[in-house]
Amino acid sequence: MAGGEQQTSFDVLVIGGGNAGLSAAIMAAEAGRSVCILEAAPRFYRGGNSRHTRNLRAMHEAPTSVLTEAYDEAEYYQDLLRVTKGRTTETLARLAIRGSQDSVAWLEARGVRFQKALSGTLHLGRTNAFFLGGGRALVNALYRHAVRLGVVAHYEAEVEQVKLEDGACVGVTAHLGGARHDFTARSVVFAAGGFQSNIPWLKESWGAAADNFLIRGTPYNKGAVLKQLLGQGVAQVGDPQQCHAVAIDGRAPKYDGGICTRVDCVSLGIVVNSHAERFYDEGEDFWPKRYAIWGRLVAAQPDQVGHVIIDQKAIGLFMPSVFPAVKADSIAELAGRIGLDAAALGRTVDAFNAAVRDGSFDHTALDDCRTEGLTPPKTHWARRLDTPPFHAYTLKPGITFTYLGVAVDQDARVVMADGRPSANMFAAGEIMAGNVLGEGYLAGIGMTIGGVFGRIAGEEAARHASDAG
Ligand SMILES: Cc1cc2nc3c(=O)[nH]c(=O)nc-3n(C[C@H](O)[C@H](O)[C@H](O)COP(=O)(O)OP(=O)(O)OC[C@H]3O[C@@H](n4cnc5c(N)ncnc54)[C@H](O)[C@@H]3O)c2cc1C
Repeated sequence: MAGGEQQTSFDVLVIGGGNAGLSAAIMAAEAGRSVCILEAAPRFYRGGNSRHTRNLRAMHEAPTSVLTEAYDEAEYYQDLLRVTKGRTTETLARLAIRGSQDSVAWLEARGVRFQKALSGTLHLGRTNAFFLGGGRALVNALYRHAVRLGVVAHYEAEVEQVKLEDGACVGVTAHLGGARHDFTARSVVFAAGGFQSNIPWLKESWGAAADNFLIRGTPYNKGAVLKQLLGQGVAQVGDPQQCHAVAIDGRAPKYDGGICTRVDCVSLGIVVNSHAERFYDEGEDFWPKRYAIWGRLVAAQPDQVGHVIIDQKAIGLFMPSVFPAVKADSIAELAGRIGLDAAALGRTVDAFNAAVRDGSFDHTALDDCRTEGLTPPKTHWARRLDTPPFHAYTLKPGITFTYLGVAVDQDARVVMADGRPSANMFAAGEIMAGNVLGEGYLAGIGMTIGGVFGRIAGEEAARHASDAG
């Protein structure tokens, strides 16, 4: 060990201090184990992507203090099967779903507060429990609780190296306080997120297009730990191209823009690429069911850019992005302002307007306002773009998190490529989310996977540490 006098040997080491790592650390500390969290970010940015979140999806058999009606295992699992097109591991998915039943109570008992069930157009009051004060308040409450239990949290402690011997972790090296430090523990929980903030790694599967991606969350999830594990005989799950990606405002910062950069008016207008051509049905389904496909759709367009065009009729029907729309009194003028060919955009809008069949517009239902004879069609909420001023938002792909990860079993224990469970390694959160999410996404399941597997990992890591002791 180079320099420093701090303790470097613990019962349980947790790599990454977001929701998954905190859940694991708390469980292990509550079981009486000595626990250390190594967190790459400075204290202010602790909590990774978890600090950007708003809610988690929870199964319940009857109304609760924060969720309406019921949302049972069968329905939850069917919803998951639909979005993943069956690319999930049933045992682990069901484990996450069943475990979600206790999530709200577990978090509340540790200082996290929830909002009353939401009503309104989001349709999430039945399925998703919202954190009062958002993800940052959740993260702060969990850190407070962890520290009270005696958990040691090191910030700016990026783990650079993980040492494996015969399927066991024998130590990690972290860069901390200007020096490299070796840490050892009886059990190690990996909760260091996906690799979405590592653009060179994204480029391995996306090519040069990845240079144009924006990363919605923390810049610290670079996949260093994931790479170390996969390079040393840990079994891989998931496809490197699969991720959660939404279309966000092109003016968003490269990292950490969070939810306020989302552009939620796609279903109210049309979306064109840099040739001013439409490329997908903007009204295919309710926005909460479709928002997560638009990142990929925009990623497939020239220069990874799209432009959503709406008219004055749409204003007030969606939550605006933090950036103001570009406005103009004519389509031609709008085209000039967003760098599109005015004649080309004019033709696209004219063709769309001519194809619109009148119906009764209702944004809260799959209404009958649609186009006829247009490719691609707009199947709901199609209204002519005819009421100035016209508004445009330029879109870019916003990557939330990647799905490539390490394989785990029902004890959140890391599985080696030869099928053996690791002797002392556990994983939770984005780093293993690909076990449940082969593709697609169900709003709120990221925090569910992190919380449920974090709790299991912490409990099992503590048990292993005590057996090994
Ligand atoms: C804008 C946004 C909104 C979201 N909204 C929701 C939502 O409302 N509901 C929902 O369920 N999901 C949401 N998600 C997804 C959700 O954030 C994640 O699924 C979840 O937070 C993952 O938790 P985690 O603990 O695995 O990862 P994180 O919370 O990202 O934690 C990983 C931690 O590991 C640290 N780390 C990384 N590498 C290292 C290293 N080498 N050494 C040490 N530490 C390291 C990072 O600094 C980070 O703090 C959202 C994501 C974003 C970006």
